[in-house]
Amino acid sequence: MNLDFQDKRVLITGAQRGIGKEIALGFSQSGAKVFINYPFESEKEVAREVVDQINTNGGNAVAFQADVRHQQEIDKMIEEMIRLWGGIDILVNNAGITRDKLLIKMSDEDWQSVLDINLTGTFRCSRSVSKEMMTRRYGRIINISSVMGLQGNAGQANYSASKGGIVAFTKAMAKEFGARNITVNCVAPGFIGTAMTSVLPEAVRQNFIHRVLIKREGTPQDIMHAVLFLASDQASYITGQVIVVDGGLTL
Ligand code: NAP
Repeated sequence: MNLDFQDKRVLITGAQRGIGKEIALGFSQSGAKVFINYPFESEKEVAREVVDQINTNGGNAVAFQADVRHQQEIDKMIEEMIRLWGGIDILVNNAGITRDKLLIKMSDEDWQSVLDINLTGTFRCSRSVSKEMMTRRYGRIINISSVMGLQGNAGQANYSASKGGIVAFTKAMAKEFGARNITVNCVAPGFIGTAMTSVLPEAVRQNFIHRVLIKREGTPQDIMHAVLFLASDQASYITGQVIVVDGGLTL
C-alpha cells in the first residue's frame, strides 16, 4: 500500500524530537507539507535541524514555536499555517509529558501540568483547527494516547487520566465531526524508545521488553506508520477508533 500525501498540509505538535519528529519525516517522505511545532524558544535550533533535514531532501517544512498550554500561541500558529499554505488538512496531537509519582506523593502541580499539556493541549489544538476543517469539509485528526490511558499504570495516575481522557475526547469529536468528513482517531503506543522512556531505570525497561510479545521496544517508526495510515485516504471510513501499537504488551 502506497500512502500518498502529495500537497496535504500537516501540523504535528511536539515534533522537534521523538515520535513527533518521526511522524513529520514520514509525512514529508510521502509528499506532505509539514508544520513542525515545538514548545519553547530554547528548542528553536533542534526544530530548525528537523526542518533542514526535510527541506534538503526536497520536502517542505516550517518550524513554529507554540506552547500547547497557551491558546493565543496555538491560534497564531494555525493562522500562520493558513497564511502560508491556505489551510490545514491533518492535525497530529502528539505533544505530551510525564510527571510520574505515586498518587500519595502527587502534587496538584504534578497532576495539573500533565492534564494541561496532554489533554487540554489536545483539546485546544483540535478546537483551533476544527473551524477551518469544517468549512472545507475535510480533515484528519490523530491523537497520540497511550496504552496507559486504556489500562492505567501505577505511578502514572495523572498521565493515565490524561491519555484516557484523550480516548473519550477522540470519540466525542468523531461524533461531532463525522458529517463534515472529518475523521478523528487515536494511536495508543506501548513502550517506545524515546527521550520520554530513556529516563526509566534499565530494570524497568527490561521488564517492559520482557512483557512485549514481539520482544523488542517499539520505535518511533512503528507509531508513525499507524498515524500515516489513519491520515490516509485508505482510512477514510475509520473514525473514533484507537489503534494500539505495543507489540502485544497489553494483550
Ligand atoms: P518526547 O521525545 O519527550 O516528545 C514529546 C514532545 O512533546 C517533545 O517535542 C516536547 O518538547 C513536546 N512538548 C512538551 N510540552 C509541550 C508543550 N507545552 N507544547 C508543545 N509541545 C510540547 O516523547 P515521545 O515518546 O516522543 O512522546 C510523544 C507522544 O507519544 C507523547 O504524547 C507521549 O505521551 C506519547 N507516548 C509515548 C510513549 C513512549 O513509550 N515513548 C508511549 C505512549 C505514548 P520538549 O522536549 O521541548 O519538552
